[in-house]
Amino acid sequence: MAGQAAWKSTAAYAGLLAGALVVGFAGAMWPGAPLDRGAYDFMFRLYRPAPWTPQSAILAIDEQTLSAYGGIRGVRTALAKGLPILAAAAPKVVVVDVILADHGADPKVDADLAKAFCATPNLVLSADMTAGGWDMPLAEFQRCAASVGQVHAAPDENDSVARAISLEKRGFRKRLWALALEAFRLSRGAGIQEDTAAGSGLDVGGAIIPIPYEGGMLLRPGLPERTGRLMRVRFLPPPPAMEPIPRVSLKAMIDNQALARAFTGKVVFVGVTAVTELHDRLTTPIRPDIQTSGIEIHANAFETLAQGLYLIDVRDDLVFLFCLAIAIAMGVAFRYLPGWWAYTGGLAILLAAFLAPYLFFTHRVVFPFAAPVSVAWFTFVAAAAYYHLVVRRNWHIERASRTRYQQAMQFVTHEMRTPLSAIQGSSELITRYPLTEEKRKQVAQLINSESKRLARMVEVFLNVERLSAGQMELKRETVEVDAMVRLCVERAQPLAERKHIRLTLGEMGEDLRLTGDRELMEYACYNLLTNAVKYSPRETEVTVTGTGGDGYVRIAVQDQGIGMDQKEVKQIFQKFYRTRKAEESGEAGTGIGLSIVQQIVERHGGRIDVTSQPGAGSCFTLVMPAVVAERS
Ligand code: ADP
Repeated sequence: MAGQAAWKSTAAYAGLLAGALVVGFAGAMWPGAPLDRGAYDFMFRLYRPAPWTPQSAILAIDEQTLSAYGGIRGVRTALAKGLPILAAAAPKVVVVDVILADHGADPKVDADLAKAFCATPNLVLSADMTAGGWDMPLAEFQRCAASVGQVHAAPDENDSVARAISLEKRGFRKRLWALALEAFRLSRGAGIQEDTAAGSGLDVGGAIIPIPYEGGMLLRPGLPERTGRLMRVRFLPPPPAMEPIPRVSLKAMIDNQALARAFTGKVVFVGVTAVTELHDRLTTPIRPDIQTSGIEIHANAFETLAQGLYLIDVRDDLVFLFCLAIAIAMGVAFRYLPGWWAYTGGLAILLAAFLAPYLFFTHRVVFPFAAPVSVAWFTFVAAAAYYHLVVRRNWHIERASRTRYQQAMQFVTHEMRTPLSAIQGSSELITRYPLTEEKRKQVAQLINSESKRLARMVEVFLNVERLSAGQMELKRETVEVDAMVRLCVERAQPLAERKHIRLTLGEMGEDLRLTGDRELMEYACYNLLTNAVKYSPRETEVTVTGTGGDGYVRIAVQDQGIGMDQKEVKQIFQKFYRTRKAEESGEAGTGIGLSIVQQIVERHGGRIDVTSQPGAGSCFTLVMPAVVAERS
């Protein structure tokens, strides 16, 4: 019984925690995880990787250049002038992030630009995919380019923060690699191999670019790219943590050619940085306050590739396992740690859930923030609430039964004192004073009956303990119900007479028999009778009946006494419980009689039914398996 109850409460507790886990996990993963993005950007600013020297540089088409060359239309002229100067400084790769899909106003400028391109080794030109198809560089420009890369920065649809780029873009029967990836492969003088031993990664001259898990946070609903091999960009920490990617104004370089020395041996990204000309209004995790140009994002993506500083999203199923571990740890903490230690342990787990994503981040793994934290919170609250309510309640019950036990013990010692002092007094009487023979006999009888009462009392208490410990052996005798009930009525008669209560034997079925321990069954029956008498006012009636049927024997004791309400009826079988009215009645009692009766009856395979109404009386019925009468 106790084991089953414990198992049930454990199952309820585990179920509650499982519910908290599911709600916490689903709630955190469902809405496209805005918290995760915020936490990601925060960690990005918090954690600084070891600084390195940038291998790229930016040749900026800035405000100064645009105003000197007549706005965006003058960009081709500026490029045609600037590129030969740049080429003379021997850069490693030159990436031009300007879309040159159609002819300019002046064919002479286009011809000059094409010439400048042909004089630039390791040149990467740009293409972009629009709704109508690819905007590819004109054939005359493309002729001298080493390759063409696509310029798509993959900003987050929700907040326009560029956290990743698409390494590839497919469409209109063409697939182009990212500008940064083309630049990286040219800088290594290698090709791009797709089938690596590592699976879905890309192999660029032996350098493996891992492709992030396609179901990860980056690709969750609400985010732009579902395909395209996203790569998280490890933006350079801002100064003073690290020197920035060198940047020179195109106009300044044309005016002062010595500035081109900054580009020697570098991978140079040429593009528009003038804020007025930026089409996409993008920010980066590292600078949420200012707009960043596409060319800077490409240069940072190149640095990520060149340094191999990849950030990989952890798989959702692993995140779930982690959350499961949190839920289990939380459950164990509240189950096994005592009192405040449970709360301390719970808070420690909560803290661990907060810190885990950052720890992972420092190891280049992007772990969602919301899921573990919300699971930790939900399970913390669930476990704490469960323990607060359930454990408190159990504690109260236990304390109440302890108090009752103490009161019962006081009563017992008090009750034992009465027969003891009677025995003591009587024995002194015999030894000290010469008594008549008749008086001696009387005193001896008193000693005898009082010591028997004492022995019975001790016996009852011992029986309770043995029965509840399951140590008591039951005898298996055939008990004639009629005879047993008559005996009990006879015994209880003096008690009833004292209160002028009529104790009557009502209907009694013939040949009713049951199997069991006669003495214990008598005890049970007698106890119901004495209770009925005890808890009834004077001048009332107590009726006992015995009936058979359905394979059961029913021994019912009906009184017209104080009665009980339903709540009280549910508790009377607990050890030491007494109703308030019983206490107030002035009748002596311990509150254990019925608990013994119940145990006896259950050990015999029967049960007790109780119907009662306050003030109207009660009926206690023993329902016992009958012995089928043998027909001769
Ligand atoms: P005790 O009689 O020693 O108090 P029991 O275990 O026999 O202990 O009974 C438990 C309680 O159940 C009683 O204290 C009383 O409140 C209630 N009870 C038992 N029998 C009756 C009855 N016939 N009528 C009203 N209340 C009863």
